[in-house]
Amino acid sequence: GQEFEKQADGAPTDSTEARNLLGGKGANLAEMANIGLPVPPGFTISTEMCTRFMNEGGVYPDSLNGEVAQGVAHIEAITGKTFGDAADPLLVSVRSGARASMPGMMDTVLNLGLNDETVEGLAKTSGDERFAWDSYRRFIQMYSDVVLQLDHDSFEEALEIAKEDNGFFTDTEMESQHWKALVAEYKGLVEEQWGKPFPQDVNDQLWGAVSAVFGSWQAERAKVYRRLNDIPAEWGTAVNVQAMVFGNMGETSATGVAFTRNPSTGDSAYYGEWLINAQGEDVVAGIRTPQYLSKAAREEANAKPLSMEEAMPETYGELTNVFDLLERHYRDMQDIEFTVERGKLWMLQTRSGKRTAKAALKIAVDMANDGLITEEEAVARVDPMALDQLLHPTLDPDAKRDVLTTGLPASPGAACGIIVFDSDTAERRTEMGDDVILVRVETSPEDIHGMHAAKGILTARGGMTSHAAVVARGMGRPCVSGAGGLSINNETKLLKIGDRELKEGDILTIDGSNGQVMAGRVKTIQPELVGDFGVLMEWADKVRRLGVRTNAETPQDCKVARDFGAEGIGLCRTEHMFFETSRITAVRQMILAANEAGRREALAKLLPEQREDFRQIFEVMVGLPVTIRLLDPPLHEFLPHHQSEFEEVAAAADVGVETLKQRANELHEFNPMLGHRGCRLGVTYPEIYEMQARAIFEAACEIAEASGEAPIPEVMIPLVATARELELMKDAVDRMAEEVFAEKGRRIEYLVGTMIELPRAALMAGKIAEHGEFFSFGTNDLTQTTLGVSRDDAGRFLTQYVDKGIFPRDPFVSLDIEGVGQLIELAAERGRATRPDIKLGICGEHGGDPASIAFCEKTGLDYVSASPYRVPIARLAAAQAAL
Ligand code: PEP
Ligand code: MG
Repeated sequence: GQEFEKQADGAPTDSTEARNLLGGKGANLAEMANIGLPVPPGFTISTEMCTRFMNEGGVYPDSLNGEVAQGVAHIEAITGKTFGDAADPLLVSVRSGARASMPGMMDTVLNLGLNDETVEGLAKTSGDERFAWDSYRRFIQMYSDVVLQLDHDSFEEALEIAKEDNGFFTDTEMESQHWKALVAEYKGLVEEQWGKPFPQDVNDQLWGAVSAVFGSWQAERAKVYRRLNDIPAEWGTAVNVQAMVFGNMGETSATGVAFTRNPSTGDSAYYGEWLINAQGEDVVAGIRTPQYLSKAAREEANAKPLSMEEAMPETYGELTNVFDLLERHYRDMQDIEFTVERGKLWMLQTRSGKRTAKAALKIAVDMANDGLITEEEAVARVDPMALDQLLHPTLDPDAKRDVLTTGLPASPGAACGIIVFDSDTAERRTEMGDDVILVRVETSPEDIHGMHAAKGILTARGGMTSHAAVVARGMGRPCVSGAGGLSINNETKLLKIGDRELKEGDILTIDGSNGQVMAGRVKTIQPELVGDFGVLMEWADKVRRLGVRTNAETPQDCKVARDFGAEGIGLCRTEHMFFETSRITAVRQMILAANEAGRREALAKLLPEQREDFRQIFEVMVGLPVTIRLLDPPLHEFLPHHQSEFEEVAAAADVGVETLKQRANELHEFNPMLGHRGCRLGVTYPEIYEMQARAIFEAACEIAEASGEAPIPEVMIPLVATARELELMKDAVDRMAEEVFAEKGRRIEYLVGTMIELPRAALMAGKIAEHGEFFSFGTNDLTQTTLGVSRDDAGRFLTQYVDKGIFPRDPFVSLDIEGVGQLIELAAERGRATRPDIKLGICGEHGGDPASIAFCEKTGLDYVSASPYRVPIARLAAAQAAL
């Protein structure tokens, strides 16, 4: 273990190694002690011990006993109190603290060291009997929950009944004799449920708590959180054992949580909540409604209870000095826990605060403008994936709103969906394709899967630092918390707001930016890249090397992507164009035609439509490269299904329905993804690709004619496995280009290239590059074919593969760098050896994934191509990869 106090030898507590070993909380406590802030003495048992504990099936090495005893002695020496001493007992907190912060995910035990004897000692030394018994009942309750894992509700119930019996409404009305009686009852509950009396030996208590904290690393909710946040299971958690300081020692004591800036908007104003005469859990769990920290915030909210600034001006001044110091020290916005014990301020935690994307941008840009960090650091600070929150629609300010109530704007953004009242239902309905709003009295870590599944979260209780608020902000889910006047009945699945009643399945809209809760669906508008977002993007563009293109196939998508900064189209899939109602019959006629003449007749109908598709796209993308992929999917995807569809095609092609049905049967494939698709269509039915190439060149010539600026078509051949396939297809495209140029009397610059999406194509890249002027890595298919895992069916088992550590992440989301990555490296190398100026890009889904983008940077690709809403994410990720 490591003790936190001023390090005589200057041992670093502010480094990555320190964080890895001591966890975030432990390292920062040590560092705060190091820079002279008031931190209660304590020590940290390292994350390595957790890993060992897990690997060795829950046993500790012998040496740990002595080290813990030494740690306790260290605290005793500083506090002058003795652990387990009946006269002047030392009490400690036992708290988890992983490398990455996992708010509320793991366990904490406070007031440890209390038993039937020491409680009397605490009453005497504190001169406050009520406080001592209150602390004891809190300890039994927490220990029973966290360590003994007894039924939490039965303890809550006993407390509720005790208050009721005495005619009290709040915990603060309970006097010492009431707490004493409750302690007796709690001990009864323990014995009843655990079969043994509540542990009186303080060392047993301590070891129980340490094991429970280590064990909580493997709790279901912690696993879910890790999966959602890409935290490796082997990191483990540290355990911090620290002398208790008490915020519940009367009116001069308090506890609170604070951010050095507003975590929701990024505004540079102290921001937080506190409670007089309370312990930390009271603030976070929403048991009592917390009060505002600053006078300004209280006044703005029109709240009555005094702010800390007003109630304890001196301590508040001291606290804000600490805020400034910590922010300058860590050069980042801090999330802080503090306690005031009889007027004395103690710091219990500091960490980089979780924030919304909006706040992350503002804080990074403000700090760079203030010279606290550099522009490059600002670029590095913002998580590209978090930008997603800003790239989605917000409520149209002019739309009509049927506002039911207003709560706290806990996490910004608008969400609309059906009401569900529990997390399992939220998950199930989302899987069924519904947008859901999860409505809860308050959320707990058990709700993490439901919150993730939901589009938005609404709670009746809890402040801006409640579980719901913190987790929703971290996940980028819009959230309105503490919405007054909400009455939720989980049994009848009814939500009452005033005199309005809504049931499960009814539509609700929430606006996490202003706290409004509205009935029905409210119109939304597109966001714009302005303000801090625009500034940070400019800084990112200055440092990135990779180009960023988009995968888009409609003029609207192209426009969105261009507005988001796309520098061209990396993949225009043409198959969806064939599904349009006006065309599908002609497409089916083409597929089902008995011979080339029949196909050509149908293709002639499609040519003008296809030309118009490309013309519109070129118009939006004028001056930029546009990669158009020729038809790729297995033909069977276009087949008619219903009698009426067959009849339509029969009429158009002038053949019998039965003949068509028989032809459709012939086209059936057992494994269509490995069947008659990609360039195999072009090889067997060259007229299809000829029509598409003609449409491309005719459209390009039209645009050049009209605007004077020609688009730069890059014609892409899909699913190539051999050089000869590409050679044949390139010849056909070139021939078509020459034909059109002759007809139009002008030439257009264009390229012909291929996708690399089969392992053989990667291996043969050197030969393939003889015919292809560019490669675009189709990593969706390349992953599917390299792993032999169907991209359409993998969902059923891949989650388990990730849980069991077989893949670090879903390989269809984040590139399997170790495996598939090798094929990309090899193909890039062999392609360049043949054709040094070959253009290399990626157009699979991975082109929008930051980790995969970092790999593309390392491999020296020229560009990544991402879906329109991912373009800004890709720009930022590409910049970070270049730093
Ligand atoms: C790919 O396979 O990676 C690709 C981009 O093509 P599609 O997803 O259309 O198969
Ligand atoms: Mg593909």
